[in-house]
Amino acid sequence: MSGEARKIRLIMDLRRSGVTDTRVLSAIERVPRELFVPEPFADQAYENTALPIGQGQTISQPLVVALMSQALEVGDRMKVLEIGTGSGYQAVVLAKLCRRVYTVERYKPLLAEAERRFRALHVHNITSIAGDGARGWPEQAPFDRILVTAAATSLPLTLLDQLAEGGVMVLPVGAQGGEQEVLRIRKKDGQQQTERLFPVRFVPLVSGELPE
Ligand code: SAH
Repeated sequence: MSGEARKIRLIMDLRRSGVTDTRVLSAIERVPRELFVPEPFADQAYENTALPIGQGQTISQPLVVALMSQALEVGDRMKVLEIGTGSGYQAVVLAKLCRRVYTVERYKPLLAEAERRFRALHVHNITSIAGDGARGWPEQAPFDRILVTAAATSLPLTLLDQLAEGGVMVLPVGAQGGEQEVLRIRKKDGQQQTERLFPVRFVPLVSGELPE
């Protein structure tokens, strides 16, 4: 099967699994996922699975990227913070949906590769930094939307602080290696409203010193 045919099959699969937002589907269609995975996995880029990207980390399953992007309700004027750049794939999908993406990654080598991809694909509305994403990006706050792509054991309040009034944050929360759940949190009149969306399995959000 050709790459194009595999991509069409994936998009149909996503629609069947509840991805109805046409902006999100079109963004997924336009981002070449094969450029975000190590060479040996390139032929699996349009399978609906997570794949290893080095440093024990993974590029998320396309369905999870699509459902989380949809849940975030991103508008084209918005400023979005992503925690856990990883391969950079989710950041580029978000970059197609909003005005600017700020993304934080704790592994410098992963970040360097992701930044190389942003340049190669001429995606110019992503600003990235190496650091502990649990601290957010206070200098750039507030954000209209926040997406966390590593699992915290509880809601990171520092991130909630950096969410704008009327903003939405989507994140996986739960025990490491156990059942985690994607939550959507809306900040309204200074209060937070939480919805439980779907179960997932993410690598942990790790705090503390940066690895080399
Ligand atoms: N969004 C990525 C997938 C992320 S996997 C993609 O599209 O490919 C989760 C990523 O979160 C990993 O790269 C991991 O190194 C990173 N991470 C874990 N804890 C972090 C933290 N405290 N701050 C920033 N990044 C973190």
